[in-house]
Amino acid sequence: MTELFDALGLTEAVTGGPLAVHSPIDGARIASVAVTDPADMPAVIARAQAAFRLWREVPAPRRGELVRLLGEELRAAKADLGALVTLEAGKIASEGLGEVQEMIDICDFAVGLSRQLYGLTIASERPGHRMMETWQPMGPCAVISAFNFPVAVWAWNAALALVCGDPVIWKPSEKTPLTAMASMRILNRALARFGDAPEGLVQLVVGGPQIGEALVTSADVPIVSATGSTRMGRIVGPKVAERFGRAILELGGNNAMIVAPSADLDMAVRAIVFSAVGTAGQRCTTLRRLIVHHSIRDELMGRLLRAYASLPVGDPRAPGTLVGPLIDEGSRSRMLAALDRARAEGGEVHGGAPVEGVPGGAYIRPAIVLMPAQTGVVREETFAPILYVMGYDTLDQAIAMQNDVPQGLSSCIFTLNLREAEAFLSAAGSDCGIANVNIGPSGAEIGGAFGGEKDTGGGRESGSDAWRGYMRRQTNTVNWSASLPLAQGVRFDF
Ligand code: NAD
Repeated sequence: MTELFDALGLTEAVTGGPLAVHSPIDGARIASVAVTDPADMPAVIARAQAAFRLWREVPAPRRGELVRLLGEELRAAKADLGALVTLEAGKIASEGLGEVQEMIDICDFAVGLSRQLYGLTIASERPGHRMMETWQPMGPCAVISAFNFPVAVWAWNAALALVCGDPVIWKPSEKTPLTAMASMRILNRALARFGDAPEGLVQLVVGGPQIGEALVTSADVPIVSATGSTRMGRIVGPKVAERFGRAILELGGNNAMIVAPSADLDMAVRAIVFSAVGTAGQRCTTLRRLIVHHSIRDELMGRLLRAYASLPVGDPRAPGTLVGPLIDEGSRSRMLAALDRARAEGGEVHGGAPVEGVPGGAYIRPAIVLMPAQTGVVREETFAPILYVMGYDTLDQAIAMQNDVPQGLSSCIFTLNLREAEAFLSAAGSDCGIANVNIGPSGAEIGGAFGGEKDTGGGRESGSDAWRGYMRRQTNTVNWSASLPLAQGVRFDF
């Protein structure tokens, strides 16, 4: 651990502060770090505003150069930062590395984007006039992130915000400040190579909701990108709206897979197991509901139970482990309580027993629960590896069940039937932000826009045109004629 902290330049910063950081691997305290004083928040925001005034005038492709350098530094630090993600968030080694790769990928994407912040030209109804749309930098962007993607979510936002001309103030989860501090050191190396970026362009603030609140309520922070629970979004969203700020909300999911009679079950089983138990069920896109045609339900259940029985649960650093610990004991208690509730609502629970793993960590066997219907507990997101299985008769019924939950993040169907696949993707199909065919609901690539509807908050981040969320759209009309005609034929002669 000491070597890892040294390699990431954290040695000085990990002792003496009031915020204790525990590793979910064994519950041990691995650091105690400084927190931001709420009284300092106005100065932090003022620094970001000052940085904005300079950064917005730097040409976007030059801004992209900073993000290119960040991508290079992340490549060099990938092994160490990935290992720290494992230590602090409990992800298995390959998922820790995957998270850093996602940061690198979004940097590459944003570098290209820095030369593609396109606007439209629009035909004017008036002679000698030209209309166009210009995308301008917006101002400081707050990034409030969750524990389960402790660094990738920051990179999704920061890479885009920086090329769009916006400074960034990052408030990571209070459960994972170390990976954030390490990412800032990596960014600082890129800033040093870049040379002339304004001071305060990217700032880190550490602490709980109170620190986030200062960003949420400040009119000098026009964009608040907040990732976390729907409970958090219900507090943050209205506060940002009250001051007419822009919120990008990435909240809880309750993701489903429909398995149709024609599905390739070998593929479906692989997809189900990865998306239901990967990251120990702690992804926003984790598969939580399996809606299976009655004709194949028993066969699929049998195969899943066999696969679940052999899943290696334990130390996420050990080669071969597929399911690491939950983030903390509270999370394990919530999973056990949800399983009790599922039993009370008629569920047949398989798995879900606590496991020793590494002493001190919250290890548990993933659970599969056969449910008689989509009851109350199934409609809630329990952030743990519980997969509820329900049967269906007609595709319409399956799609109705898929949509009949408050959340709307990710969804998928396994079918070899073209009509079923297209119906699922149609206007009357899945109501989620992400809808896939013959691939699980989790493990998104950065090229697409990421986010979901309803209680998931409606935000979009990452690829496609999500960059527009970080810019201000300006409509320009230029009159190059010698007269001043009014639109809609209005006369105003004097
Ligand atoms: P959480 O809501 O407890 O915390 C998330 C962040 O919000 C933390 O940084 C926290 O300090 C901050 N926060 C909490 N209350 C706040 C307030 N009142 N004002 C300002 N900031 C506040 O979530 P968590 O337990 O860290 O993460 C798990 C949740 O995140 C799950 O529901 C998961 O589905 C969701 N999530 C969603 C996405 C997505 O892209 N949709 C991605 C990752 C995680």
